[in-house]
Amino acid sequence: MANSAHQPPAFQLRPYQQEAVERVLEWFRASSDPAVLCLPTGAGKSLVIAELASLARGRVLVLAHVSELVEQNQAKYASYGLEADIFSAGLGSKQAASQVVFGSVQSVVRNLEQFNDAAFTLLVIDECHRVSLDKKTSYQLVIQHLLKLNPNLKILGLTATPFRLGQGFIYHRHLQQQAVRGEEESFFKACIYELPLRWMVKNNFLVKPERLDMAVLAYDFSSLVPANTGYFPEAELDKVVKDNRVTPSIVADIQQRAAQRQGVMVFCASVRHAEEVAGLLPSEQTALITGALATKERQQIIQAFKAQQIKYLVNVSVLTTGFDAPHVDLIAILRPTESVSLYQQIIGRGLRLSPATDKTDCLVLDYAGNPWDIWAPEVNTPRPNANTELVQVLCPGCGFANSFWGVKTAEGEVLEHFGRRCQGWLEAAGEATDNKGQQCDFRFRFRVCDACGGEADIAARVCPHCDATLVDADKKLKEALQLKDAKVLRVSGMTLEVALNGKGLERLKVTYYDEDASELSDWYALETPAQRKAFELAFLREHLKAPGCGWLPKNAEEAAVGAEHLRYPDFVIARKINKKYWRIQQRLFDYQGSYRKAVAAG
Ligand SMILES: [Zn+2]
Ligand SMILES: [Zn+2]
Repeated sequence: MANSAHQPPAFQLRPYQQEAVERVLEWFRASSDPAVLCLPTGAGKSLVIAELASLARGRVLVLAHVSELVEQNQAKYASYGLEADIFSAGLGSKQAASQVVFGSVQSVVRNLEQFNDAAFTLLVIDECHRVSLDKKTSYQLVIQHLLKLNPNLKILGLTATPFRLGQGFIYHRHLQQQAVRGEEESFFKACIYELPLRWMVKNNFLVKPERLDMAVLAYDFSSLVPANTGYFPEAELDKVVKDNRVTPSIVADIQQRAAQRQGVMVFCASVRHAEEVAGLLPSEQTALITGALATKERQQIIQAFKAQQIKYLVNVSVLTTGFDAPHVDLIAILRPTESVSLYQQIIGRGLRLSPATDKTDCLVLDYAGNPWDIWAPEVNTPRPNANTELVQVLCPGCGFANSFWGVKTAEGEVLEHFGRRCQGWLEAAGEATDNKGQQCDFRFRFRVCDACGGEADIAARVCPHCDATLVDADKKLKEALQLKDAKVLRVSGMTLEVALNGKGLERLKVTYYDEDASELSDWYALETPAQRKAFELAFLREHLKAPGCGWLPKNAEEAAVGAEHLRYPDFVIARKINKKYWRIQQRLFDYQGSYRKAVAAG
């Protein structure tokens, strides 16, 4: 279809949708790197897709993982007065001749021979957090097929939750925030535009979630541990809820609170649990959707729910994405969720505007004690422990405000954090649109390369500066343990004091102890600026609990009383000098090897 046939759009784009479209055009003018738009559920993704498809000069393939989404996206495009083909077995159509094709990834990957066309210039992937790095997955097979035909293919992903359990952020860097979020190897190279959920609610594009924590009436999932995949095993989830006497009370509570509500979605812990819950709700007003349901039946139920012929829709987690029933105004969560993204996906089902039902908010009833903050951004690393929260740490190098897991005082001072490298993105000098630049190389935690002295990530095996293999901590320990003139301390404590050295000068004396009270010491002078600088480099940077947060003692007294700011190494290795005294040569922090670490002194 020629572009000249482009009718005036049936829908006017909202300003932020227009901006998203412009960012996409800008990005792909300069780059063929895959990019992501992050728009919350209800932001009108299908309208943005329709606009982009209508603007494209070449052929466009829009993929989604479920037929509901394929249908929604195609319908929005058709509302422009434009024609497109649908390629989805679930929708009973396998046409791929038009300039624009809306397809389900499963149907397309099984019929790649119908997409042997180098004229495809734009591939749009809805709910693109489902694209995995595994080359054998359906999305990757379609991508490789189209890229082979057209190496300049532009790939755009859209999602409300750009995060995968076990992988982290699905993109490398965030354009607006000038920040690095995911791995450099991420499939999507950048998030080029993002609208936060909070902004959408504040500007009345979504209704407000009203969350009630059901502390009295709740399941206790606290002992559950996620599997390697990051997900809770369904069998384990079911153990908690099976024969649980609280279930009938929860269902009664939902019903009572739903008295003035229009549409209720219930998220359960297992299929068995969902069946039990559905059985306790009024049968004529309730339907159950599980993954085992045939497509046709599932569509009939969803239609009946959207038409408000049934009030309660019970499921496990099949309806977290690609489901659109604006009248939903109560979400009941009877299962733990593994990440804030999944939690946001569930709640997102109830935030759409619905003028037809006079909806003003969405009640969120959490009967599973989920710890997530609806508004919080995702953090790429797992939370180290339950005492940590998100803290802001400014980079001493570039000033970027990093969000890391950490510990704060009541006054807001950061006492400890677990950030490793600054997430700031430094644009290259010159054209702002050429997408060039690099991640700030300031490291809060690091290991030093013995070959070149450069800093590397604490988990790195190869030096990023000189490609030398970094010597494994276990190897260093093993070597030292075999030497007669070496001493290895399994550190269980550390003290700092002001002491006089042999010449009667005031020095900071740092002493490390092991479990048998064997000890090794270091002495530092802090009188001149040069000495303090040396102390900072040789001692502070590795010993600080909150590196980069500005604690810098002015003299030995100040350092000696500042122990709360400091951590001690797991091991200290010393060598005998002149057969007389021990000199500390290495301190091993963040040790992950096979030797036992000391039990911390009480
Ligand atoms: Zn920085
Ligand atoms: Zn090196």
